[in-house]
Amino acid sequence: MQPSMFNVRVPLENAGLRDDVFLMNTFTDAQLIVSRDVAALLDRIGTAEPGALSASERDALSTLSDQGFIVDDRESERVHIEQWFRDLRESEDQLRVTVLTTLQCNFACDYCFQGDHGDYNKTAAKMTLETAERVAVWTEERLDTLKPESFVLTLFGGEPLLNLPVAYYLSERLWKASQARGVRMLVNVITNGLLLTPTVVDRLAPYGLNAVKVTLDGDHDTHNRMRPLRGGQGTFDKIIQNVRAVAGKCRISIGGNFDEDSVDSYPALLDFLKEQEFADKLARVAFKPIIREPKPQLPKGFIPLTVVGAGNKPLNGTCMTSAGGGTSICDNCNFLDEKMSFLRDETKKRGFPTVDGVHMGPCEIHRRHAHTIGPDGALYACPGFTGDATESTGHIDGRREDRREQAASRFDQLAAWKDCDDCAFIPVCAGGCSVAAHTELGDMNRPNCHKGSFEAGVRSLARDAAVAAVATIN
Ligand code: SF4
Ligand code: SF4
Repeated sequence: MQPSMFNVRVPLENAGLRDDVFLMNTFTDAQLIVSRDVAALLDRIGTAEPGALSASERDALSTLSDQGFIVDDRESERVHIEQWFRDLRESEDQLRVTVLTTLQCNFACDYCFQGDHGDYNKTAAKMTLETAERVAVWTEERLDTLKPESFVLTLFGGEPLLNLPVAYYLSERLWKASQARGVRMLVNVITNGLLLTPTVVDRLAPYGLNAVKVTLDGDHDTHNRMRPLRGGQGTFDKIIQNVRAVAGKCRISIGGNFDEDSVDSYPALLDFLKEQEFADKLARVAFKPIIREPKPQLPKGFIPLTVVGAGNKPLNGTCMTSAGGGTSICDNCNFLDEKMSFLRDETKKRGFPTVDGVHMGPCEIHRRHAHTIGPDGALYACPGFTGDATESTGHIDGRREDRREQAASRFDQLAAWKDCDDCAFIPVCAGGCSVAAHTELGDMNRPNCHKGSFEAGVRSLARDAAVAAVATIN
């Protein structure tokens, strides 16, 4: 018997519980507040003589064992986690399909290589209704083969609402297909919010509209500087007006992309949101770092997360500022780790639901039955790789091409966490974002590590647990 490698602990003396410790197991998700004595007992596992333990110590060990804090040995725990990742990869419970309805975008954000810059929108791909029909046929075949319990369709881009005919067609047809097969269907939309209207929401609502994620990049002035229209006009007021008009009709989640210049404006954004009549209708508020193309001399504090593909060229497809649907760990540096926890705490202080910084993955790249489909019908393992044709894993028309089969095989074997030794965060991190690893390290199969971010998340969970415990005592 020995302590699980997935145990983490936080002493609670700064949270009003001087003699207690917060224990968490990231594999079983068990979370306990125990006395320092019990935590110390955990350290003595394997060395203490069973006969030397008191009845209460044996009880404590039995509870810790039931909750996964104690395991037989390291080898069996490793076997267990490997099997868990295999099961996760092969799980047929849910089919997830993210469709890039278009790569065009009506914003001209300076940090994004997509968008309304130069001639970009004239040449950026847009899915035709004919391709959408083939996407529907392909998805129906997947539904028939997998027979999943649920199906999640995510409409993404570029700006997905620039191609409403395809968004409506896919939602309606796949809703009918899901209904006919007894499968629960959910539709998510990730949008910049400019074209989000009650008409759009009312049109999608009957087909399982679950959530709309809208991006705000800081307070009014900062957002307008970061996310203008081509002519420089601000977009903040229009987006807020649109959110106000649809709040209550569907779940709205607010995301945002920050860098060192803009991060300090986020508390003002949170204060502004808190004052709005739709504040209690926001399902989640969570912010992420900006991803930029590399520049020769990065200013201090700049987040060097760059989306690139083959030949060191930037990936040219998906707007990575919202890739991963907001729960992913597309992040990259100490600046980010610190600022992420700062913004998370500020968000929590104002009572908005947000991510906890620990339950961040594994992201969808680790699931065989999560697909991203580009406007031309090419398949990808996740939205972050859509700009690089060499990373396409297949095509909805079933064509067999060596390069796609080789890419599919690369993603099949993806297991960066195997290089993470006995890191306690493997079950919730899986080695980090593969796109970031591909970009920064030139190898998607190497860990892209932000352990500090997970540690900050655990400290925050511990604080919340202590506050709840103190409130119960009083
Ligand atoms: S690999 Fe990175 S970009 Fe892709 S889904 Fe995972 S966290 Fe997001
Ligand atoms: S990338 Fe870092 S935090 Fe993630 S599992 Fe590996 S060592 Fe742990």
